[in-house]
Amino acid sequence: MSGGNRTALITGVTGQDGSYLAELLLAKGYTVHGLVRRSSSFNTERIDHIYQSPQEPSRTLVLHHADLTDGVALVNLLRELRPDEVYNLGAQSHVRVSFDVPMYTGDVTGLGTLRLLEAIRASGIDTRIYQASSSEMFGATPPPQHEGTPFHPRSPYGCAKVYGYWSAVNYREAYGLYAANGILFNHESPRRGETFVTRKITRAVARIRAGLQDRLYMGNLDAVRDWGYAPEYVEAMWRMLQQDEPGDYVVATGVAATVRDFLTAAFAAGGLDWTEHVRFDPKYERPSEVDALIGDASKARDVLGWEPKVRWRELAELMVAADVEALDAELSGRRVRIDR
Ligand code: NDP
Ligand code: GDP
Repeated sequence: MSGGNRTALITGVTGQDGSYLAELLLAKGYTVHGLVRRSSSFNTERIDHIYQSPQEPSRTLVLHHADLTDGVALVNLLRELRPDEVYNLGAQSHVRVSFDVPMYTGDVTGLGTLRLLEAIRASGIDTRIYQASSSEMFGATPPPQHEGTPFHPRSPYGCAKVYGYWSAVNYREAYGLYAANGILFNHESPRRGETFVTRKITRAVARIRAGLQDRLYMGNLDAVRDWGYAPEYVEAMWRMLQQDEPGDYVVATGVAATVRDFLTAAFAAGGLDWTEHVRFDPKYERPSEVDALIGDASKARDVLGWEPKVRWRELAELMVAADVEALDAELSGRRVRIDR
């Protein structure tokens, strides 16, 4: 299926997933509008390679300043753009940080979703919306987790995502809005934020190899996660909005690994032994932890025809290779394009 003359709005376009999704939709022929929040420094590094200048007459990627905390700006933007599809990827997305800024996280990640849903309703446009829900909603409920598994969030972030999830379901039931929840398990890439555990590790491997640091301080190494590859996961998002009926889908690899497993594989990929460099710092523990997330993505496979290819070990290797290459380029003064 091609994008034809279709238009999409992505909140969180400057994030990991937003950047891959923008690439995917542009390749399908969509005109992509991205919501960017104001920052005192550049926050568009992940989309610089697809940036089109405002002077370009037939540009297909257009950025707009707005914020999920500003409901009026969202209504105005939706009225003006009338997109066929909306992807709500914007969020305060860090679990550990959500304990430090719980109100803010609730405002952006929880209420922000409601503001966007209400903006769609208030502007009276005919659009489909994808809500970036999270495996963190399952929290303490043991694996394997699927669409029918009860939620038991363990952080302000998880609670905010549960609010967003049910708000999307409610707008579907109350107003007939085409709203789909993607319940995505952890997914990573060379564009993953530097303070999430996988990227923190792979970046440290590159820096230790280069002699720029010797120690890496970490929290709980026993946590079990189901890590997939972000570019594959944005394809599932798009497929969710192409169905006749809206639904909710788990997206995961179904393969479990501990943080220690990922650490071991990533350091080995860099020719290093992690036990020589990693030390514990309670600073990185959470007040309440999510012990194990392992997804059952049977519904996504059966209904969307979606299947993951990259598993966690290969992911660790490709992320280490990317961080090593980026650091080499930085140290030799070459400019690195973030196009992988
Ligand atoms: P990122 O943290 O990389 O990106 C988050 C995006 O949200 C950024 O573009 C950020 O802007 C933007 N944002 C933050 N605050 C606001 C705000 N107040 N108004 C508008 N935009 C804002 O997240 P990912 O790309 O990894 O994840 C995408 C979505 O999927 C998020 O909602 C996340 O919670 C969810 N998710 C992610 C999973 C994962 O493993 N990656 C798993 C399950 C769900 P800026 O660049 O300026 O900071
Ligand atoms: P999350 O699953 O959304 O919380 O993604 P993260 O990548 O932030 O964390 C994954 C797991 O790694 C969690 O169980 C963390 O407690 C654990 N972890 C252990 N050490 C660290 C660390 O130094 N940083 C982060 N971010 N997580 C860590």
